[in-house]
Amino acid sequence: MPETVSRPRTDPGTPARARSWWGWGYTDAHPADAECLAMGALLPGTLAAPLPIPQVADLAIGRPALTPPSSLERLVTADPEARAAHAMGKAYRDVIRALRGRPGRIPDLVAHPGSDQDVADLLDWAGGHEVAVIPFGGGSSVVGGVEYRGDDHRAVLSLDLTSMDRVLEIDTASRSARIQAGALGPVLEDQLRPHGLTLRHFPQSFEFSTLGGWLATRAGGHYATVHTHIDDFVQSLRVVAPAATGASWRLPGSGAGPSPDRLFLGSEGALGVITEAWMRLQERPRHKASASVAFTDFGRALDAVRAVAQSDLAPANCRLLDPGEAALSGASRDGSSVLVLGFESATAPVGDRLATALDLARAHGGRGGAPTTDRDEPAPAGDAAVSAWRSAFLRMPYLRDGLARMGAVVETFETAATWDVLPALIDAVRTEVGAAALKATGHPATVNCRLTHVYPDGAAPYFTVAVAGRPGDEVEIWDEIKAVAGDVLHRHRATVTHHHAVGRDHRPGYDRQRPEPFALALRAAKDALDPHHVLNPGVLLD
Ligand SMILES: Cc1cc2nc3c(=O)[nH]c(=O)nc-3n(C[C@H](O)[C@H](O)[C@H](O)COP(=O)(O)OP(=O)(O)OC[C@H]3O[C@@H](n4cnc5c(N)ncnc54)[C@H](O)[C@@H]3O)c2cc1C
Repeated sequence: MPETVSRPRTDPGTPARARSWWGWGYTDAHPADAECLAMGALLPGTLAAPLPIPQVADLAIGRPALTPPSSLERLVTADPEARAAHAMGKAYRDVIRALRGRPGRIPDLVAHPGSDQDVADLLDWAGGHEVAVIPFGGGSSVVGGVEYRGDDHRAVLSLDLTSMDRVLEIDTASRSARIQAGALGPVLEDQLRPHGLTLRHFPQSFEFSTLGGWLATRAGGHYATVHTHIDDFVQSLRVVAPAATGASWRLPGSGAGPSPDRLFLGSEGALGVITEAWMRLQERPRHKASASVAFTDFGRALDAVRAVAQSDLAPANCRLLDPGEAALSGASRDGSSVLVLGFESATAPVGDRLATALDLARAHGGRGGAPTTDRDEPAPAGDAAVSAWRSAFLRMPYLRDGLARMGAVVETFETAATWDVLPALIDAVRTEVGAAALKATGHPATVNCRLTHVYPDGAAPYFTVAVAGRPGDEVEIWDEIKAVAGDVLHRHRATVTHHHAVGRDHRPGYDRQRPEPFALALRAAKDALDPHHVLNPGVLLD
């Protein structure tokens, strides 16, 4: 029998940390001006002083175009701070628009539903009054997924799901839990921890993104192989759409026609609002071991990663950093590429698997890699390159915003492709995106690459571009660079996104990529589920 879960007590003495409305994370973690200047000095051509932190009071936030009926008033706010914080996601494009005082359209209202009925009532009202509804989890979208870009609606309502954040039931026999979609990563894990269980899905945005957002975007977690996407953990979904509400059956597997869950996984708030899900859980890993290996030749490093990916070793971490990435994270400063390998298990020591993976890496020219010993949690820091990379990884989004304040154009994009085209794809991105950035700005750009997820048949490269912008034109410059990147990906038949989703920014690439029979079916699903086209207009479909 499933057990009901009680909410963990939060310590009333702990003051809440302020979230940034315009940038990543907590305001107290933003780099200070001096750190911004130091970072800017590394990119020739950036500003002499950081752009000021933008203030909500400086935005021209008018009165809402529409107010809800009194029955919905308790769910809705028109507070300017709340509206500004729900206007955009957290891509570089969003951050620089906020810094330049050009944010996207500010929603008229922000709603915080507490139940499925609240969601259904809000959708009903929206459908009858031409109100666009943008489902909003943590708002960490990097593809324009949570902003309104049209002018076909009378008003825009941001539907913030974060009040629906409970783990409602745990079925220990089937090792699964019923979880509300608005739970942020830490909120969700805090409720599972007392049961010795974990969802074990850790995107870089974990702290500030929600289960519903992960499901709606088919998010990719931290782990490099086996369970790479949130999809793998879904047992059933509950969806409230304007035309219908319902949940799929909880099944460990099923061959009954097309999967109903697959229709809503990745639907990005355009077909319905995911309100809860039964998720497959795992025991918390007790055995961990990691090590890093350096390579002089990036091509040989790619061969090593392919050998590991095509073995049955299934590393939890298998991140290949090119020399630029390795230098940036402090994993290596001598021009080497670095492969970070990690293994985890809840049941058995993993040292042997790590040793075999290291042998494979060394057979392809890898150097070093003394493994940390197999150990129980809490894990010690591990080898220096591994921990340098880990802490740089978490701090990276804050640093990106600091560089944006220096007028830099600094952003990432990711893809996946099969091994046969991967080396050529990475080369082409480096060359053509670098050239596009130089042409657009007159400054040399750095284009770095790391592999985030690896498969027996291919891998997911993740690129970081940094270049000094032209003051005031940063958005246009980034759009130019990104268009070139999109063409390179398309030419190599690499996906427009491995895990960042489509949103509004990736629509051209997505439209080119999806087969026409599928596009027809998607349009039909939209018409049936959302007949007034109020849900996230412009995402996935026109
Ligand atoms: C610094 C940084 C690091 C990131 N790292 C990763 C990463 O490692 N892996 C990864 O996959 N992504 C990553 N992302 C992108 C982003 O975090 C993911 O897309 C994430 O899944 C979004 O979750 P969210 O709760 O913030 O959703 P939001 O940004 O609020 O919404 C994303 C989309 O889902 C829709 N949506 C949200 N909730 C629901 C719901 N309940 N029902 C229906 N639709 C809904 C929205 O309308 C929108 O289209 C990163 C972003 C940033 C800024």
